[in-house]
Amino acid sequence: MEGKKRLAIGVDIGATNLRVALGTKDGRILAKRTEPTNIRGGAEGVSLQIGAMIRKILGSEISIKDLKGIGIGSTGPMDLKRGAVVKASNLPWDFIPLVEPLQEAFGIPVRLLNDCAAAVLGEKAFGSGIGTQNLLYITLSTGIGAGVFIDGRLIMGKDGNAHEVGHFTIDFEGRLLCGCGRRGHWEAYCSGRNIPRYVKFLVDEAKEFSDDEMAGSLLLAEVRSQRLTTEGLFNLAKAGDSLALKIVERLGMLNAIGFADAINAYDPELITVGGPIALRNEELVLPPIRKLVGNHTVNRVPEIELTRLGEDVGLYGALALNFVED
Ligand SMILES: [Zn+2]
Repeated sequence: MEGKKRLAIGVDIGATNLRVALGTKDGRILAKRTEPTNIRGGAEGVSLQIGAMIRKILGSEISIKDLKGIGIGSTGPMDLKRGAVVKASNLPWDFIPLVEPLQEAFGIPVRLLNDCAAAVLGEKAFGSGIGTQNLLYITLSTGIGAGVFIDGRLIMGKDGNAHEVGHFTIDFEGRLLCGCGRRGHWEAYCSGRNIPRYVKFLVDEAKEFSDDEMAGSLLLAEVRSQRLTTEGLFNLAKAGDSLALKIVERLGMLNAIGFADAINAYDPELITVGGPIALRNEELVLPPIRKLVGNHTVNRVPEIELTRLGEDVGLYGALALNFVED
């Protein structure tokens, strides 16, 4: 009976927004809602808000009984044994209970995974990963993370965090501090949150560029006035600002090291890439990785392509999580 149910809920918990979708086993999203996470409701408020969003999305036509379950992909880190998010760097609470309160409220199975682990399931079920047994999903977003599906199964680790590639050390001199408190991590240089700091470092402290190279750069003015954003950097590069292009090239070199480390660790046959940095700047981000990654790998270089599921990859993953045992 349970196996016949074809409708389920997918929930994506991001740094700022909650997203909820109603979808089908074959990967059609029928309805979705996005709301900013209500910080004032406290840690317990997160599951209450998700519950309210699910009820709104179901309306009067669909009953809870018709649902296979609720799948959640969340920004981490996770404590999967307790069904909770713990000490999330992007959310203001130490412990966010999710599985138990939602299971109590709805009486259907609730499954929780790190958002990137969910995303790789989404790729496997509905994206480019169909038919692939060795697949990696990497997000270049506010942070950097991966979902790892190798030898036909999801790799999890003792707490569900076996894929913290954003915290691979790519700079042994540890020039920049990562949000996790350690130095030299990939995410400290190439994540959406940290790119402006890295640019400032290259220009002001490391003095990586000569006065000639920086002359007339609009980027420099933005750095000096502390207005530079990650999006601004890529927009200037697209407009042909030569300093912005040099910095984007530098980011490509570092991304290639991060991707190579992941390839050496997991030996995937396909890597799909998501997250706004990649999705909005494909031509600036992916070609340098493809070109340089082989300089650092011992394993055969896999296909590296943009996710076809776009910004919804996490939602598709959360949806897929409901059907993994079918
Ligand atoms: Zn770190």
